[in-house]
Amino acid sequence: MNAEWVPPSTALVELHPDPKARSKAVARRDIPVGSTIFSAPAFATALLEGEKGHRCDYCLREQSTLKKCSSCGSYWYCDAKCQNEHWQAGHKRVCKKINQFTNSMAFQQLEKHGRMDSFLLTHLLAHLSTLSEPYSPEVSTELSITLSLLPGPSGDCAASNPPYCPIKPPPPSEDLVTDIYSRFGNNNFTIHSHLNSIAHGIFPQASRMFNHLCTPNAVAKYVLKPGEVAAMEVVSLRDISSGEEVCIPYIDPALMQTRHKVFQITYGFTCDCPTCTFLQKVGQIPDPSLEHGDLIQLGLKLREFVGVEHYLKTGKLEKKTLEELPKPLRSVLNESYMAELSETFSKSSHEGNYAKAADSGVTLLALYLLIGMHLLEMAKTQWNHSFVALTPSGEEKEVSKGIVLQLLDLSRQTLQVLGTEGDSETGPFKEIGVLESLVRDV
Ligand SMILES: [Zn+2]
Ligand SMILES: [Zn+2]
Ligand SMILES: [Zn+2]
Repeated sequence: MNAEWVPPSTALVELHPDPKARSKAVARRDIPVGSTIFSAPAFATALLEGEKGHRCDYCLREQSTLKKCSSCGSYWYCDAKCQNEHWQAGHKRVCKKINQFTNSMAFQQLEKHGRMDSFLLTHLLAHLSTLSEPYSPEVSTELSITLSLLPGPSGDCAASNPPYCPIKPPPPSEDLVTDIYSRFGNNNFTIHSHLNSIAHGIFPQASRMFNHLCTPNAVAKYVLKPGEVAAMEVVSLRDISSGEEVCIPYIDPALMQTRHKVFQITYGFTCDCPTCTFLQKVGQIPDPSLEHGDLIQLGLKLREFVGVEHYLKTGKLEKKTLEELPKPLRSVLNESYMAELSETFSKSSHEGNYAKAADSGVTLLALYLLIGMHLLEMAKTQWNHSFVALTPSGEEKEVSKGIVLQLLDLSRQTLQVLGTEGDSETGPFKEIGVLESLVRDV
């Protein structure tokens, strides 16, 4: 392949040159909130270790009765269709050797993320070996796109590839393996189902098209259909105007102190969005529990600054920048603060301390709004920490109840934008409904 691969324009976006990032995906017309902007099947996937044996190795769907590959006993499938598709797509090239490989010293001494990379690489190479011209970018658009991506930063752990399972001859050339692996770190997506991480996947087209933004206007979600390879869909989180760039987040926006490092090590670039610029400038962020004895007071001041109560009443938010954040409040940006709030929220929900749950929930919302995190994160938190066994009393209960219902409603609105994802039509939506009726009946 001589000329660089150019992604096709879709109905909604086209690639424009960009001085900083090589290219950018630009809206060709106004895109309403909740639109599917792009979709593509995974080039390769690998289940997280904890999901092995609970989900199908081909379509990644959760199943209570999976069938094992009778030859290796290490791969599980929904049925004969998924097994056959996976066999043809590459499993037949590694089935005989996979157990010997995963029991080997070289594999065993890898860390968790190394083992994940090793599986992804094995699956990808096994698949490439089945092509009409094995390992040839001439016959695989996905491979030629992969090789056109910018390699990850050199001189760190990403420089040499992890061991991979020997593939039935013909084997790939070591140069090709290195070339492919050098594109792994920054082009590896975490696949979610019901907002939980279940697998990793390589989606070369999405990597090539969408740049990162910490406050994105679109996100990636995953669609798992029986008998099919998992697919990514990029969905708009708000109305996007014609000519505007469409960006997705590469990292968790909750990483306040470590994000700079993550960007440099994994992606080899520095994000220059207002949040990242501000965090870089400020440097060390004080520990809130050392700076403020009273975290509740700190929370109240944060809420007042953001105007979250007004937001909950009217749905309107007067956007504040981090620059405007008073110095004594800066410790709210310490990662430990968000972790602490999430934990309090979760713990008090489970213990039935309703008022406390609502209180920490609102403070958490204020923090999300401040750092420009999408409400999706809020929805995630609620999804992960169900409100059960709630036993409050009196007038306070009614107030808290109202707030919790409002937070749940915000979650629903957010999730509606994203639409259904993962492997069922219900998931978080159903859960929100269940929680609402629980709360109403308290
Ligand atoms: Zn399946
Ligand atoms: Zn097998
Ligand atoms: Zn940023």
